[in-house]
Amino acid sequence: MTVTITFLGAAGTVTGSKYLVQGDGKKILVDAGLFQGPREWREKNWSDPPVDLRTIDAVLLTHAHIDHTGILPRFNQLGLKAPVYCTQATKSLSNILLPDSGFLQEEEAEWRNRKGKSRHQPALPLYTQKDAVEALKKFKSVRTGERKEIVPGVKATWHRMGHILGACSISLELGGKTITFSGDVGRYNIPILKDPEPVEFGDLLLIESTYGDRDHPITKPQEKLKEVINETVKRDGVLVIPSFAVGRAQLLLYYIRELKEQKLIPDIPVIIDSPMASSATEIYSENSGDYDEEALGVKKEGRDPFAPRKLYFTTSSDESKKLNGITDPMIIISASGMLSGGRILHHLKHRISSPNNTVLFVGFQPPGGRGDWILNGAKTLRLLGDELPIRARIESISGLSAHGDRGELLRWCESSKGTPGKVAVVHGEPESAKAFAETLQEKFDWKARPAKYRETMDV
Ligand SMILES: [Zn+2]
Repeated sequence: MTVTITFLGAAGTVTGSKYLVQGDGKKILVDAGLFQGPREWREKNWSDPPVDLRTIDAVLLTHAHIDHTGILPRFNQLGLKAPVYCTQATKSLSNILLPDSGFLQEEEAEWRNRKGKSRHQPALPLYTQKDAVEALKKFKSVRTGERKEIVPGVKATWHRMGHILGACSISLELGGKTITFSGDVGRYNIPILKDPEPVEFGDLLLIESTYGDRDHPITKPQEKLKEVINETVKRDGVLVIPSFAVGRAQLLLYYIRELKEQKLIPDIPVIIDSPMASSATEIYSENSGDYDEEALGVKKEGRDPFAPRKLYFTTSSDESKKLNGITDPMIIISASGMLSGGRILHHLKHRISSPNNTVLFVGFQPPGGRGDWILNGAKTLRLLGDELPIRARIESISGLSAHGDRGELLRWCESSKGTPGKVAVVHGEPESAKAFAETLQEKFDWKARPAKYRETMDV
């Protein structure tokens, strides 16, 4: 029986993950991601999908990141009827991430209209918050490790991937063929989540390659965090950390709790000032199914792994602004992690000009962005209408990525059973995907090559 797969995203780029599998009279969409980043890719969010969405039988999601789920509200508007299957944690995280994505789309359209920067009059959002809420009604949760018949004759199994809470690989069986979708491969020996679980390979493997051509630097993030906190307190300053709201913020809380318990840092207040980070932390606290042994141990002792002493969540933007008046040492964790918007901007505005304070970067900063500018030693920063002198200490912790590096990708491949019939390397910049395909070829003698955008391959 002929089974085919069409690469509708994350081929030649790292965003827009979506793959259409057809065979045995069925159509299954795996991931439904939004293109982000360069405009040439983002514009594809508007182009019509090359399939009648009403004929899709099921959508399967590997995890909740917007580049794997964020086109669903639009597809829903365009006539998608199928149920959307994912883990419970992915469903919970999508409940906050998808409406936020709708909000950002609305905000961008409004900005374009105000500035007259649109080819369309008026500029319309790709979808709205309301569209996102509508799409979420189609979500159904699945258990990890369970081989589930999602459509008559089609089975799928989710295995934990340690990337973010709820993240999994998916093994899809259809028309006598088995396809493994790695999703985003997580990390080994990192707190909170279990290591990536091995699977059994079949006819085709789709493997991500974000870091397919390099390894993460070996760092001791908790050690560095301890130093930065202690030095900031010594100067009587405030530590401001721009952070991704999902995953990274919880990892920081986990490390800070441990440092406080071991009395390696003073017991200063820790403030989560981001509604999304607050909600995500609640979801991380409630879903212990993905925890590794250490996190589970903390939970079993009746403690919350993400609640260091003196942890506070702001509940309104007024409360957020009130923080500006406090000069006693504290840690403020706020979003967005890439300084593209959100409450972090007013914290930077109020803190970056005092030499007592520290701004600590814990994630990737896009070239040419505000974070990149600050990290490169700029003396001033234009922010919210002001030109601010940068006098605060600027620090960064690298190696906190939620993506496995080349070594970790290979480790997952090696730990899994069997040899995939074919390998399509996806979710990487072209150089990275090419290098990783060559590595797989050399190391395991696998038939691997990078997938091309919109190509259809026989499984
Ligand atoms: Zn991801």
